[in-house]
Amino acid sequence: MRVVVLTGAGISAESGVPTFRDADGLWEGHRVEDVATPEAFERDPDTVHRFYDARRAHLSTVEPNAAHRALAGLERDGRHRLLVVTQNVDDLHERAGSRDVVHMHGELLSARCLACDGRFRSDAPLVDRPRCPGCGERALRPDIVWFGELPYELDRIQSALERADLFVSIGTSGAVYPAAGFVSAARAYGARTVELNLEPSHGTDLFHDARHGPAGTVVPSWAAGLTPTG
Ligand SMILES: [Zn+2]
Repeated sequence: MRVVVLTGAGISAESGVPTFRDADGLWEGHRVEDVATPEAFERDPDTVHRFYDARRAHLSTVEPNAAHRALAGLERDGRHRLLVVTQNVDDLHERAGSRDVVHMHGELLSARCLACDGRFRSDAPLVDRPRCPGCGERALRPDIVWFGELPYELDRIQSALERADLFVSIGTSGAVYPAAGFVSAARAYGARTVELNLEPSHGTDLFHDARHGPAGTVVPSWAAGLTPTG
């Protein structure tokens, strides 16, 4: 089977990665519009850099959980063709062993150059304004898709949805587009659809099947039950 897995904040939250959905829409005291928009970066780049520098540094204190490992195991197993499309900007899927991962909202461990538009692996604090490895300018920004910007690799995601036999949504609220529309697209192209989430999402009725509970429990149990195709 061709399987497209969409993952969101819920899967990383169980590893201790904070999200905007904690408490009252604040992320460690910051409002979304103060750190996750192009306007915020223009207005106050130091605050935005420090925010993502701190998020990046925090990655070294968290580990992939059983849900990340179950997805990596499914890919490694090789019976199914798995593509993980994640809304998360951490590297927990990769550290669990997943290789085919699309970061539609960018990555903390990547920087983008505003001068040459290159994207580079980087774990350096960007508030120090390191030089771009490509053009030498000090014009790097976090390689994060902010509100109002276009997610990465939508064409590749769309064509994967067109060919998918199974679409699985894990730990996402179903409220943020375009990802919230993937389930309808996958269904329209004939895929079976499954929701694995802590609680029923906004779009839970759009799925053929749903299992609700912590990702670290429901994902491994779902993966174990995925039978080989004939
Ligand atoms: Zn550059």
